[in-house]
Amino acid sequence: MSELTITNALVFDGVSEQLTETSLYLRDGVIAEIDPRVTRAERVVDAAGRTVLPGLIDAHFHAYGVSLDSLAIETSPLSYLALAGARRLRRALARGFTTVRDVAGGDAGLARAVADGLIPSPRYLHTGPALSQTGGHGDARSPEQTGLCLHGSHMCEVVDGVENLRVAVRERFRQGAHAIKLMTSGGVISPADPIRPPQYTPEEVAAVTAEATRRGSYVAAHAYSPEAVRHSVLNGVRSIEHGNLLDEPTAALMAEHGAFLVPTLATYDAMRRRGAEVGLPDFARAKNQEVLDAGQRAVALAHAAGVPVGFGTDLMGALENDQLAGLRLQTEAAGVLACLRSATSVNARLLGRDDLGRVAVGARADLLLLDGDPFADPSVLWDERRPRQVVQAGEPVAGTG
Ligand code: ZN
Ligand code: ZN
Repeated sequence: MSELTITNALVFDGVSEQLTETSLYLRDGVIAEIDPRVTRAERVVDAAGRTVLPGLIDAHFHAYGVSLDSLAIETSPLSYLALAGARRLRRALARGFTTVRDVAGGDAGLARAVADGLIPSPRYLHTGPALSQTGGHGDARSPEQTGLCLHGSHMCEVVDGVENLRVAVRERFRQGAHAIKLMTSGGVISPADPIRPPQYTPEEVAAVTAEATRRGSYVAAHAYSPEAVRHSVLNGVRSIEHGNLLDEPTAALMAEHGAFLVPTLATYDAMRRRGAEVGLPDFARAKNQEVLDAGQRAVALAHAAGVPVGFGTDLMGALENDQLAGLRLQTEAAGVLACLRSATSVNARLLGRDDLGRVAVGARADLLLLDGDPFADPSVLWDERRPRQVVQAGEPVAGTG
Protein backbone atom coordinates (compact mmCIF):
# COMPACT_ATOMS: atom_id res chain seq x y z
CA MET A 1 0.00 0.00 0.00
CA SER A 2 1.36 3.43 -0.88
CA GLU A 3 0.27 6.38 1.24
CA LEU A 4 0.93 10.09 1.36
CA THR A 5 -0.69 12.90 3.32
CA ILE A 6 -0.59 16.49 2.12
CA THR A 7 -1.28 18.84 5.04
CA ASN A 8 -2.15 22.56 5.23
CA ALA A 9 -3.24 22.53 1.60
CA LEU A 10 -5.15 25.38 0.03
CA VAL A 11 -7.14 23.35 -2.50
CA PHE A 12 -8.65 24.28 -5.86
CA ASP A 13 -10.95 21.32 -6.54
CA GLY A 14 -11.16 21.81 -10.33
CA VAL A 15 -14.56 23.54 -10.24
CA SER A 16 -15.31 25.81 -7.25
CA GLU A 17 -14.40 29.42 -6.95
CA GLN A 18 -13.70 28.92 -3.24
CA LEU A 19 -10.38 27.47 -2.22
CA THR A 20 -10.57 25.14 0.77
CA GLU A 21 -7.94 24.77 3.45
CA THR A 22 -7.68 21.09 4.25
CA SER A 23 -5.51 17.95 4.18
CA LEU A 24 -5.49 15.19 1.58
CA TYR A 25 -4.86 11.54 2.30
CA LEU A 26 -3.70 9.68 -0.84
CA ARG A 27 -3.74 5.90 -0.92
CA ASP A 28 -2.86 3.56 -3.81
CA GLY A 29 -3.02 6.27 -6.43
CA VAL A 30 -6.40 7.65 -5.37
CA ILE A 31 -7.55 10.54 -3.15
CA ALA A 32 -8.92 8.50 -0.24
CA GLU A 33 -9.86 11.24 2.21
CA ILE A 34 -10.19 15.02 2.34
CA ASP A 35 -10.26 16.27 5.91
CA PRO A 36 -8.28 18.91 7.82
CA ARG A 37 -7.71 16.41 10.64
CA VAL A 38 -6.13 13.61 8.56
CA THR A 39 -2.66 12.65 9.72
CA ARG A 40 -2.71 9.04 8.69
CA ALA A 41 0.28 8.39 6.48
CA GLU A 42 3.88 8.15 7.61
CA ARG A 43 4.92 10.26 4.66
CA VAL A 44 3.70 13.84 4.87
CA VAL A 45 4.12 16.80 2.54
CA ASP A 46 3.49 20.11 4.27
CA ALA A 47 1.83 22.37 1.69
CA ALA A 48 1.70 25.50 3.86
CA GLY A 49 1.74 28.59 1.64
CA ARG A 50 1.06 26.53 -1.46
CA THR A 51 -2.02 25.79 -3.55
CA VAL A 52 -2.94 22.26 -4.54
CA LEU A 53 -4.68 21.82 -7.89
CA PRO A 54 -5.72 18.80 -9.89
CA GLY A 55 -2.88 17.81 -12.22
CA LEU A 56 -3.26 19.78 -15.45
CA ILE A 57 -4.57 18.22 -18.65
CA ASP A 58 -3.28 19.28 -22.08
CA ALA A 59 -5.95 18.14 -24.53
CA HIS A 60 -3.95 19.08 -27.62
CA PHE A 61 -0.45 17.65 -27.43
CA HIS A 62 1.81 15.93 -29.97
CA ALA A 63 4.48 13.62 -28.57
CA TYR A 64 5.87 13.07 -32.07
CA GLY A 65 5.68 16.76 -32.98
CA VAL A 66 9.46 17.09 -32.88
CA SER A 67 9.70 19.62 -35.74
CA LEU A 68 7.68 22.35 -37.44
CA ASP A 69 8.36 20.58 -40.74
CA SER A 70 5.64 17.94 -41.15
CA LEU A 71 7.52 16.17 -43.93
CA ALA A 72 10.59 15.82 -41.69
CA ILE A 73 8.43 14.13 -39.05
CA GLU A 74 6.69 11.76 -41.43
CA THR A 75 10.00 10.65 -42.95
CA SER A 76 11.80 10.17 -39.60
CA PRO A 77 12.31 6.69 -38.17
CA LEU A 78 9.68 5.92 -35.53
CA SER A 79 12.41 4.93 -33.04
CA TYR A 80 13.75 8.50 -33.17
CA LEU A 81 10.29 10.02 -32.72
CA ALA A 82 9.57 7.74 -29.78
CA LEU A 83 12.76 8.73 -27.96
CA ALA A 84 12.33 12.44 -28.70
CA GLY A 85 8.64 12.13 -27.80
CA ALA A 86 9.55 10.53 -24.46
CA ARG A 87 11.60 13.61 -23.61
CA ARG A 88 8.71 15.90 -24.58
CA LEU A 89 6.39 13.89 -22.33
CA ARG A 90 8.81 13.99 -19.38
CA ARG A 91 9.08 17.78 -19.63
CA ALA A 92 5.29 18.18 -19.84
CA LEU A 93 4.96 16.17 -16.63
CA ALA A 94 7.53 18.37 -14.87
CA ARG A 95 5.46 21.44 -15.81
CA GLY A 96 2.44 19.94 -14.04
CA PHE A 97 0.59 18.19 -16.87
CA THR A 98 -0.37 14.78 -15.51
CA THR A 99 -2.55 13.86 -18.51
CA VAL A 100 -2.13 14.65 -22.20
CA ARG A 101 -4.37 13.86 -25.14
CA ASP A 102 -2.24 13.36 -28.24
CA VAL A 103 -4.37 14.34 -31.23
CA ALA A 104 -2.03 13.37 -34.07
CA GLY A 105 0.37 10.54 -33.51
CA GLY A 106 1.15 8.15 -30.74
CA ASP A 107 0.81 4.45 -31.17
CA ALA A 108 0.33 1.27 -29.16
CA GLY A 109 4.06 1.02 -28.42
CA LEU A 110 4.43 4.46 -26.88
CA ALA A 111 1.17 4.04 -24.96
CA ARG A 112 2.43 0.73 -23.57
CA ALA A 113 5.79 2.20 -22.57
CA VAL A 114 3.96 4.93 -20.62
CA ALA A 115 1.47 2.51 -19.06
CA ASP A 116 4.32 0.20 -17.98
CA GLY A 117 6.13 3.12 -16.35
CA LEU A 118 9.20 2.79 -18.60
CA ILE A 119 9.40 6.57 -18.95
CA PRO A 120 8.22 9.44 -16.74
CA SER A 121 5.17 10.76 -18.57
CA PRO A 122 1.72 12.20 -18.13
CA ARG A 123 -1.12 9.72 -18.54
CA TYR A 124 -1.17 9.29 -22.32
CA LEU A 125 -4.36 9.16 -24.42
CA HIS A 126 -3.83 9.18 -28.17
CA THR A 127 -5.74 9.21 -31.44
CA GLY A 128 -3.03 7.63 -33.57
CA PRO A 129 -2.26 9.40 -36.86
CA ALA A 130 -4.77 12.14 -37.72
CA LEU A 131 -6.83 11.52 -40.85
CA SER A 132 -6.50 13.99 -43.73
CA GLN A 133 -7.79 14.17 -47.27
CA THR A 134 -5.34 14.41 -50.17
CA GLY A 135 -3.96 17.96 -50.21
CA GLY A 136 -5.47 18.58 -46.77
CA HIS A 137 -3.85 19.76 -43.54
CA GLY A 138 -2.27 16.35 -42.86
CA ASP A 139 -0.77 16.00 -46.35
CA ALA A 140 2.84 17.02 -45.74
CA ARG A 141 3.82 17.45 -49.40
CA SER A 142 4.40 20.91 -50.82
CA PRO A 143 2.77 21.79 -54.17
CA GLU A 144 6.15 21.35 -55.94
CA GLN A 145 6.59 17.80 -54.74
CA THR A 146 4.73 16.36 -57.70
CA GLY A 147 6.45 12.99 -57.88
CA LEU A 148 6.37 12.25 -54.16
CA CYS A 149 3.97 9.55 -53.06
CA LEU A 150 3.48 9.89 -49.32
CA HIS A 151 0.52 8.72 -47.32
CA GLY A 152 2.07 9.66 -44.01
CA SER A 153 2.29 7.41 -41.06
CA HIS A 154 3.54 8.83 -37.77
CA MET A 155 1.40 11.94 -37.18
CA CYS A 156 -0.97 12.04 -40.11
CA GLU A 157 -2.32 9.66 -42.69
CA VAL A 158 -3.92 10.63 -45.99
CA VAL A 159 -7.13 8.64 -46.44
CA ASP A 160 -9.88 9.50 -48.95
CA GLY A 161 -13.35 8.01 -49.38
CA VAL A 162 -16.01 6.72 -47.00
CA GLU A 163 -15.05 3.04 -47.11
CA ASN A 164 -11.32 3.66 -46.67
CA LEU A 165 -12.07 5.99 -43.75
CA ARG A 166 -14.21 3.35 -42.04
CA VAL A 167 -11.34 0.87 -42.21
CA ALA A 168 -8.88 3.50 -40.95
CA VAL A 169 -11.09 4.33 -37.97
CA ARG A 170 -11.59 0.66 -37.05
CA GLU A 171 -7.85 0.08 -37.33
CA ARG A 172 -7.14 2.94 -34.91
CA PHE A 173 -9.54 1.56 -32.29
CA ARG A 174 -8.05 -1.90 -32.77
CA GLN A 175 -4.72 -0.36 -31.80
CA GLY A 176 -6.06 1.32 -28.65
CA ALA A 177 -6.96 4.82 -29.82
CA HIS A 178 -8.81 6.98 -27.28
CA ALA A 179 -10.60 8.97 -30.02
CA ILE A 180 -10.26 9.81 -33.72
CA LYS A 181 -8.66 12.96 -35.13
CA LEU A 182 -9.81 14.39 -38.42
CA MET A 183 -8.52 17.40 -40.37
CA THR A 184 -11.56 19.37 -41.53
CA SER A 185 -9.85 22.62 -42.54
CA GLY A 186 -6.45 23.92 -43.59
CA GLY A 187 -3.78 24.80 -41.08
CA VAL A 188 -0.85 27.08 -40.35
CA ILE A 189 2.08 24.79 -41.13
CA SER A 190 0.61 22.73 -43.99
CA PRO A 191 2.04 23.89 -47.32
CA ALA A 192 -0.72 23.25 -49.85
CA ASP A 193 -4.06 24.37 -48.40
CA PRO A 194 -5.79 27.64 -47.45
CA ILE A 195 -7.00 27.90 -43.83
CA ARG A 196 -10.70 28.48 -44.31
CA PRO A 197 -12.39 26.02 -46.68
CA PRO A 198 -13.80 22.83 -45.14
CA GLN A 199 -12.00 19.56 -45.93
CA TYR A 200 -13.61 16.16 -46.52
CA THR A 201 -17.17 15.74 -47.78
CA PRO A 202 -20.08 15.68 -45.31
CA GLU A 203 -20.43 11.95 -46.07
CA GLU A 204 -16.80 11.30 -45.17
CA VAL A 205 -17.01 13.22 -41.87
CA ALA A 206 -20.32 11.55 -40.97
CA ALA A 207 -18.90 8.07 -41.66
CA VAL A 208 -15.97 8.73 -39.31
CA THR A 209 -18.13 10.12 -36.51
CA ALA A 210 -20.63 7.25 -36.86
CA GLU A 211 -17.84 4.66 -36.51
CA ALA A 212 -16.38 6.45 -33.48
CA THR A 213 -19.75 6.95 -31.78
CA ARG A 214 -20.71 3.31 -32.26
CA ARG A 215 -17.46 2.44 -30.53
CA GLY A 216 -18.42 4.68 -27.57
CA SER A 217 -15.80 7.24 -28.53
CA TYR A 218 -15.78 10.56 -30.39
CA VAL A 219 -14.05 12.62 -33.06
CA ALA A 220 -11.79 15.64 -32.60
CA ALA A 221 -11.49 17.87 -35.65
CA HIS A 222 -8.86 20.43 -36.58
CA ALA A 223 -10.97 23.38 -37.81
CA TYR A 224 -10.37 27.14 -37.90
CA SER A 225 -13.16 28.83 -39.80
CA PRO A 226 -16.90 29.06 -39.01
CA GLU A 227 -17.67 27.12 -42.19
CA ALA A 228 -15.28 24.31 -41.20
CA VAL A 229 -16.56 24.20 -37.60
CA ARG A 230 -20.16 24.09 -38.84
CA HIS A 231 -19.29 21.34 -41.35
CA SER A 232 -17.69 19.33 -38.50
CA VAL A 233 -20.34 19.81 -35.82
CA LEU A 234 -23.30 19.17 -38.14
CA ASN A 235 -21.68 15.88 -39.11
CA GLY A 236 -21.15 14.68 -35.54
CA VAL A 237 -17.75 16.01 -34.39
CA ARG A 238 -17.57 16.54 -30.61
CA SER A 239 -14.22 18.29 -30.08
CA ILE A 240 -13.27 21.34 -32.17
CA GLU A 241 -9.52 21.94 -32.14
CA HIS A 242 -8.22 25.54 -32.48
CA GLY A 243 -11.47 27.20 -33.71
CA ASN A 244 -9.71 30.58 -33.91
CA LEU A 245 -11.99 32.20 -36.48
CA LEU A 246 -15.17 31.25 -34.63
CA ASP A 247 -18.14 33.65 -34.87
CA GLU A 248 -21.21 34.05 -32.68
CA PRO A 249 -23.73 31.97 -34.70
CA THR A 250 -21.22 29.12 -34.97
CA ALA A 251 -20.49 29.24 -31.24
CA ALA A 252 -24.24 28.96 -30.64
CA LEU A 253 -24.39 25.94 -32.94
CA MET A 254 -21.56 24.28 -30.99
CA ALA A 255 -23.37 24.88 -27.71
CA GLU A 256 -26.58 23.45 -29.14
CA HIS A 257 -24.75 20.27 -30.24
CA GLY A 258 -22.74 19.91 -27.02
CA ALA A 259 -19.44 20.33 -28.86
CA PHE A 260 -16.30 21.36 -26.93
CA LEU A 261 -13.78 23.97 -28.05
CA VAL A 262 -10.12 23.15 -27.44
CA PRO A 263 -8.20 26.39 -28.03
CA THR A 264 -4.44 26.18 -28.60
CA LEU A 265 -3.42 29.80 -28.02
CA ALA A 266 0.15 29.00 -26.99
CA THR A 267 1.20 27.88 -30.43
CA TYR A 268 0.35 31.06 -32.41
CA ASP A 269 1.90 33.29 -29.79
CA ALA A 270 5.05 31.15 -29.78
CA MET A 271 5.22 31.12 -33.59
CA ARG A 272 4.90 34.92 -33.64
CA ARG A 273 7.62 35.48 -31.05
CA ARG A 274 9.94 32.66 -32.07
CA GLY A 275 9.17 32.11 -35.78
CA ALA A 276 12.65 33.21 -36.90
CA GLU A 277 14.40 31.10 -34.26
CA VAL A 278 12.64 27.93 -35.42
CA GLY A 279 12.81 28.71 -39.16
CA LEU A 280 9.06 29.06 -39.77
CA PRO A 281 8.51 29.37 -43.55
CA ASP A 282 6.97 32.60 -44.93
CA PHE A 283 3.69 30.95 -45.96
CA ALA A 284 3.23 29.72 -42.39
CA ARG A 285 3.96 33.15 -40.87
CA ALA A 286 1.28 34.75 -43.02
CA LYS A 287 -1.26 32.07 -42.07
CA ASN A 288 -0.27 32.36 -38.40
CA GLN A 289 -0.96 36.08 -38.36
CA GLU A 290 -4.47 35.43 -39.69
CA VAL A 291 -5.42 33.23 -36.74
CA LEU A 292 -3.29 34.74 -33.94
CA ASP A 293 -5.39 37.74 -33.02
CA ALA A 294 -8.68 35.94 -33.45
CA GLY A 295 -7.78 33.12 -31.05
CA GLN A 296 -8.44 34.88 -27.75
CA ARG A 297 -11.64 36.43 -29.09
CA ALA A 298 -12.87 32.93 -30.03
CA VAL A 299 -12.34 31.75 -26.45
CA ALA A 300 -14.41 34.64 -25.08
CA LEU A 301 -17.15 34.08 -27.71
CA ALA A 302 -17.34 30.37 -26.91
CA HIS A 303 -17.64 31.01 -23.15
CA ALA A 304 -20.37 33.58 -23.77
CA ALA A 305 -22.33 31.11 -25.91
CA GLY A 306 -22.11 28.39 -23.23
CA VAL A 307 -19.67 26.16 -25.13
CA PRO A 308 -17.52 24.00 -22.82
CA VAL A 309 -14.01 25.34 -23.39
CA GLY A 310 -11.07 23.03 -22.76
CA PHE A 311 -7.35 23.71 -22.96
CA GLY A 312 -4.63 22.61 -25.39
CA THR A 313 -1.22 23.80 -26.58
CA ASP A 314 -0.22 22.18 -29.93
CA LEU A 315 3.45 23.17 -29.66
CA MET A 316 5.73 21.68 -32.27
CA GLY A 317 9.50 21.26 -32.19
CA ALA A 318 11.50 23.66 -30.05
CA LEU A 319 8.35 25.63 -29.19
CA GLU A 320 7.37 22.90 -26.68
CA ASN A 321 8.71 24.88 -23.71
CA ASP A 322 5.98 27.50 -24.26
CA GLN A 323 3.38 25.07 -22.84
CA LEU A 324 2.69 27.09 -19.68
CA ALA A 325 2.30 30.31 -21.70
CA GLY A 326 -0.97 28.80 -22.91
CA LEU A 327 -2.32 29.26 -19.37
CA ARG A 328 -1.36 32.94 -19.44
CA LEU A 329 -3.03 33.52 -22.81
CA GLN A 330 -6.21 31.70 -21.81
CA THR A 331 -6.31 33.55 -18.46
CA GLU A 332 -6.08 36.83 -20.40
CA ALA A 333 -9.00 35.70 -22.57
CA ALA A 334 -11.31 34.22 -19.94
CA GLY A 335 -10.02 34.89 -16.43
CA VAL A 336 -8.10 32.63 -14.09
CA LEU A 337 -11.05 30.57 -12.78
CA ALA A 338 -12.30 29.69 -16.27
CA CYS A 339 -8.77 28.90 -17.42
CA LEU A 340 -8.15 26.58 -14.47
CA ARG A 341 -11.46 24.80 -14.99
CA SER A 342 -10.61 24.41 -18.69
CA ALA A 343 -7.26 22.76 -17.95
CA THR A 344 -8.72 20.46 -15.28
CA SER A 345 -12.40 19.50 -14.92
CA VAL A 346 -13.62 20.60 -18.38
CA ASN A 347 -10.83 18.74 -20.15
CA ALA A 348 -11.59 15.69 -17.98
CA ARG A 349 -15.22 15.82 -19.11
CA LEU A 350 -14.05 16.08 -22.71
CA LEU A 351 -11.99 12.91 -22.18
CA GLY A 352 -14.94 11.17 -20.53
CA ARG A 353 -12.84 10.74 -17.36
CA ASP A 354 -14.59 11.95 -14.22
CA ASP A 355 -11.73 10.48 -12.15
CA LEU A 356 -9.38 13.14 -13.55
CA GLY A 357 -9.22 16.93 -13.27
CA ARG A 358 -10.76 17.05 -9.76
CA VAL A 359 -9.63 17.06 -6.20
CA ALA A 360 -12.37 14.81 -4.81
CA VAL A 361 -12.58 11.57 -2.87
CA GLY A 362 -12.19 8.71 -5.36
CA ALA A 363 -10.40 10.80 -8.00
CA ARG A 364 -6.90 9.92 -9.23
CA ALA A 365 -4.22 11.38 -6.97
CA ASP A 366 -2.64 13.45 -9.78
CA LEU A 367 -1.88 16.87 -8.31
CA LEU A 368 0.07 20.05 -8.85
CA LEU A 369 1.43 22.10 -5.93
CA LEU A 370 2.11 25.74 -6.73
CA ASP A 371 4.09 28.20 -4.69
CA GLY A 372 1.35 30.75 -3.96
CA ASP A 373 -2.30 31.40 -4.73
CA PRO A 374 -3.13 31.63 -8.47
CA PHE A 375 -6.30 33.60 -7.71
CA ALA A 376 -4.26 36.29 -5.96
CA ASP A 377 -1.37 36.13 -8.46
CA PRO A 378 -2.16 34.13 -11.63
CA SER A 379 1.47 34.29 -12.82
CA VAL A 380 2.27 31.52 -10.34
CA LEU A 381 0.62 29.22 -12.91
CA TRP A 382 3.05 29.94 -15.73
CA ASP A 383 6.15 31.38 -14.07
CA GLU A 384 8.66 28.54 -14.36
CA ARG A 385 11.08 30.21 -11.94
CA ARG A 386 8.62 29.59 -9.09
CA PRO A 387 8.94 26.11 -7.56
CA ARG A 388 6.25 23.61 -8.46
CA GLN A 389 5.76 20.03 -7.35
CA VAL A 390 3.95 17.32 -9.25
CA VAL A 391 2.26 14.32 -7.65
CA GLN A 392 1.25 11.47 -9.94
CA ALA A 393 -0.78 8.47 -8.77
CA GLY A 394 -0.12 9.57 -5.18
CA GLU A 395 3.67 9.80 -5.57
CA PRO A 396 5.79 12.96 -5.79
CA VAL A 397 7.34 12.54 -9.25
CA ALA A 398 8.77 15.77 -10.48
CA GLY A 399 9.16 19.42 -9.85
CA THR A 400 11.39 21.87 -8.17
CA GLY A 401 9.57 22.18 -4.85
ZN1 ZN B 1 -4.45 21.27 -35.93
ZN1 ZN C 1 -2.23 19.83 -33.50
